[in-house]
Amino acid sequence: MRAVKLSSPGTVTFEEVPVPEPGAGEIRVKVAGAGLCHSDLHVLDMGDAWPAFGLTMGHEGAGIVDALGPNATGHKVGDPVIVNVVWSCGNCRACVEGRDNACEVTGGRDSFPTTPGLSCDGAMAEYMIVPVRQALPLGDIDPVGAGPLTDAGLTPMHAINTVKHRLTPGATAVIIGIGGLGHVGLQIVKAISAARVVAIDADEKKLEHAKQLGADFTFAPGPETASKILELTNGYGVDVVLDFVGVQPTVDTAAAVIAPEGLVRLVGLGGGAYPMNADVAAPWGVDVQRSYGGTRADLLEVLALAAAGKIHLDYQTYPLEDFQQAIDDLRAGKLVGRAILVP
Ligand code: NAD
Ligand code: ZN
Repeated sequence: MRAVKLSSPGTVTFEEVPVPEPGAGEIRVKVAGAGLCHSDLHVLDMGDAWPAFGLTMGHEGAGIVDALGPNATGHKVGDPVIVNVVWSCGNCRACVEGRDNACEVTGGRDSFPTTPGLSCDGAMAEYMIVPVRQALPLGDIDPVGAGPLTDAGLTPMHAINTVKHRLTPGATAVIIGIGGLGHVGLQIVKAISAARVVAIDADEKKLEHAKQLGADFTFAPGPETASKILELTNGYGVDVVLDFVGVQPTVDTAAAVIAPEGLVRLVGLGGGAYPMNADVAAPWGVDVQRSYGGTRADLLEVLALAAAGKIHLDYQTYPLEDFQQAIDDLRAGKLVGRAILVP
């Protein structure tokens, strides 16, 4: 079969490899679509600082169950499924407490839980092998366009679930970066709350996209942006900031607009540092969290919102062999929503 491999530091190649066989408790999924995430670009840019080479890329997969390994119960050949992005053990204390995105067994202090496409072969191929527990039924959702729900949907869902008690009517949420993750995050906030949404993006067409998706206010980043956002709240600040970029200027914007007791969720991996000191600097009580992926419960919520038509993915498909074009288009900011590779 054909597969897109991270073959060596910063190098992606298209290879012919054997069709994998499912082992005990595993299924084989015929991939219908595999999302390309900005995290894949970060991995390429890490060069030899990234630890694993030779794996098939792609952590946003969905498709059709194609074969069952021994003792693989709970799925039938022909079922449409989405592949969870966080492969947790399900049994450790973190998992049973519902914090499976912080699994003690497959992840840890210095690593993230097992992730297809990053820790084992992923979805950018004709077939992928998935432990039974990590495939969830898609129901009527089209598997070609569903893959990104497992990350571009799940990751915002998780960050938003940690702030939803503050998304009351009259509250204001700022969403920075209306790309793959942000365009779903914006829809989730709109679907589950009556909070006002302020969207920030450096690209005018992403701001246009944000308006179409229901943003109440849109701003390009600039020297006046924080003061314009503060004006919307009479200078008090916003309840929630979701930063899907995470570079220093966006993190600084988050710090400049957050209200006392406000909640900041840093999701983008742009390397910015949030200014926080144990001194008298205001505003008091701000809660900053670096948010990772999401839980199984978050994924079920994303699927329920998608099935109900309350959120959707905007995407552009590319044939699998055009992976380099998709990478180039994502890097150049040409995409609106997600790129999906179709084997
Ligand atoms: P994307 O490229 O699809 O979207 C990024 C958006 O941010 C684009 O619309 C771009 O125009 C905008 N942008 C870039 N720089 C900006 C700036 N300085 N100010 C304002 N807007 C700016 O990326 P994505 O796939 O949505 O991923 C977003 C980030 O989230 C990446 O860093 C990715 O690695 C990270 N990520 C984190 C997790 C997690 O679990 N924490 C999971 C998935 C992705
Ligand atoms: Zn991702």
